Amino acid sequence: MLRQALLTAARSGRLKKFVSTMPVSAAIVSRFVAGETADEAVEAARRLIGGGLQVSLDHLGEDTRDREQADRTTQAYVILLERLSHAGLSRGADVSVKLSSIGQALGANGEKIALDNVRTIALAARNAGTTVTFDMEDHASVDSTLSVLQETRRDFPETGAVLQAYLHRTEADCRDLAHEGSRVRLCKGAYDGPPHLAYQKPHDVDLSFVRCLKALMAGQGYPMVATHDPRLIEIAGALAMRHDRSRGSYEFQMLYGIRPDEQRRLASLGDTVRVYVPYGDQWYAYLMRRLAERPANTGFFLRSLLSRT
Ligand SMILES: Cc1cc2nc3c(=O)[nH]c(=O)nc-3n(C[C@H](O)[C@H](O)[C@H](O)COP(=O)(O)OP(=O)(O)OC[C@H]3O[C@@H](n4cnc5c(N)ncnc54)[C@H](O)[C@@H]3O)c2cc1C
Repeated sequence: MLRQALLTAARSGRLKKFVSTMPVSAAIVSRFVAGETADEAVEAARRLIGGGLQVSLDHLGEDTRDREQADRTTQAYVILLERLSHAGLSRGADVSVKLSSIGQALGANGEKIALDNVRTIALAARNAGTTVTFDMEDHASVDSTLSVLQETRRDFPETGAVLQAYLHRTEADCRDLAHEGSRVRLCKGAYDGPPHLAYQKPHDVDLSFVRCLKALMAGQGYPMVATHDPRLIEIAGALAMRHDRSRGSYEFQMLYGIRPDEQRRLASLGDTVRVYVPYGDQWYAYLMRRLAERPANTGFFLRSLLSRT
């Protein structure tokens, strides 16, 4: 119930207006978000890379309904990539992009606008010596995102995809995308979907995650295992061994601020661990999804809100 309420709150304009006036330094926000500016994101990347981790930086924003905003977000990525390159951090850094933040949601032409913008970002990433990964959003956008991915990969085959185990279709998508050169991040999925499309029980999502992992680990691509779940991390390691994958032929990914000790522990064992680092002033929906995953954080968040009123 609380999860559902928080996911609904993630789309509420009124609540967003209120919560978004909190300074990003409010403890609950800064725990999950690296800052509001590109400089702060680069600084977080420097810290994490210095500690033996890799990063994927996400300029926060989604569901953009305004063409100029979509273009501004595209430019924000270009600037970020230039800064990462100047800071000598590109090798350990990828960028994660939500297509809805760069035009996908702009009506009939949305997909074309997103494709043009993502090509600009992919070129900037290539010039900087790094890569782009498309985040995956709600179930209604999956076909469109995979189609933009296919087009983008014609010129930028290094572009990564995300697949979400909560959807029934994902095991088949994993098999389709488990080919050589294909980078696929597998996550549980941070959205809700109707029962005919999505698993409703957490245990069924976990079972699907394992089936999807098997397909990815057995394939020729580069699996990126995005979870904080200790059991799934263990299973991923065992499957990698079963398929004779060496460390470095797959990676683990976790979110900024979540299980940092586990991130360092895996890296110290020689695993590649990439931390997803969100930054920017559009942190509201991202924060609500993180709270929905772990209701234990919600009390702290509500107290922060009340102390403002
Ligand atoms: C790198 C990355 C990229 C992602 N990209 C996307 C995307 O593009 N699209 C999308 O829909 N979703 C994305 N997600 C979010 C993902 O789908 C899940 O919503 C989120 O990761 C929580 O799922 P989980 O696998 O960690 O499992 P959960 O079910 O949330 O947690 C499982 C277990 O992990 C442990 N755990 C979790 N959180 C904590 C904590 N704070 N402290 C201690 N232990 C904890 C606990 O043991 C818990 O029982 C991404 C996640 C990651 C890590």
